[in-house]
Amino acid sequence: MARILVTGGAGFIGSHLVDVLLADGHEVIALDNLFTGERSNLYQHLSNPRFEFLRHDVVEPILLEVDQVYHLACPASPVHYQYNPVKTIKTSVVGTINLLGMCKRVKGRMLLASTSEVYGDPLEHPQRESYWGNVNPIGLRSCYDEGKRVAETLTFCYQTQNGVDTRIVRIFNTYGPRMLFDDGRVVSNFIVQALKGEPISVYGEGSQTRSFCFVDDLVRGLRATMDKEGFHGPVNLGNPAEMTILELAKLVIEMTGSKSKISYKSLPKDDPVRRKPDISLAKKELGWEPKVALQAGLSKTIADFDARLKR
Ligand code: NAD
Ligand code: UDP
Repeated sequence: MARILVTGGAGFIGSHLVDVLLADGHEVIALDNLFTGERSNLYQHLSNPRFEFLRHDVVEPILLEVDQVYHLACPASPVHYQYNPVKTIKTSVVGTINLLGMCKRVKGRMLLASTSEVYGDPLEHPQRESYWGNVNPIGLRSCYDEGKRVAETLTFCYQTQNGVDTRIVRIFNTYGPRMLFDDGRVVSNFIVQALKGEPISVYGEGSQTRSFCFVDDLVRGLRATMDKEGFHGPVNLGNPAEMTILELAKLVIEMTGSKSKISYKSLPKDDPVRRKPDISLAKKELGWEPKVALQAGLSKTIADFDARLKR
């Protein structure tokens, strides 16, 4: 049994991670400032003596005696991270310094949840870990993208300079139950619109591509990375099955049996044209690859949204 801290533990990915860590018998502290996280994502654990919830902002220092830190705290969807850009970059930079400093003191192992956004609008396709990226430093997405890039640098430096045992994972678009209705991400938007019979908002012509990974696969990848000895990454975690946004819209309409029609809206600035992970490194080093096909993952996600909308 390990003592594990999950920052961002009340969020979408964090709460699924907390579920499996507790199921495996670990002691878990979920730390969150509840900006985009929900207490209800963790209600099922409140009576578990191995679980603790801590309302805290990672921008403020903290000292907790733990063996491992999964550092996920950071708003992840464009609507939320663009709400207060200065706070977003502070969360990535100051928050990551705080957690790395804590791990240095308590000799904890830390995994940083980085993102495919470090590749920006990529000029290399698919994206391998060796690609340095194509990121606008002063655009709408910069507070998030550049914040994560600095967080990676900090994580790398604390490892090489101070010997902190770190891991960096670059997460590609992930979806699943518990995504917020209003987080503006494509999967949640399309499902909510389809279930409500509202127009499906495709940005641009919908020819831009993304690769969608089901949250259970992603969580398995996070754990495999954390538990691998002597491996620091960065490593891509995502599903290489690439599709256009228009194809996704049609699939969601078909799977929900919705009468919604597609409505084309303007494309946001700096929206990456293509994105698909090369996951050879994860396969080789971690023996990890996604197992859940898009249709199977979407049907679980649609069922969860449907149940929550009816509440
Ligand atoms: P989320 O918004 O659901 O979760 C983030 C959590 O962090 C929320 O619970 C939020 O309240 C909390 N948080 C935000 N700022 C905080 C702060 N200053 N102090 C404490 N807590 C704070 O998003 P998610 O999709 O679960 O993403 C989790 C992590 O994975 C993020 O670091 C994100 O950048 C990364 N990621 C996610 C995706 C994806 O597709 N979901 C892709 C790439 C990277
Ligand atoms: N998108 C869309 N309609 C929506 C929301 C998003 O067409 O209602 C597009 C968006 O422009 C982008 C893709 O879907 O090209 C993925 O968007 P998301 O915000 O989910 O993730 P990210 O852009 O960070 O990959």
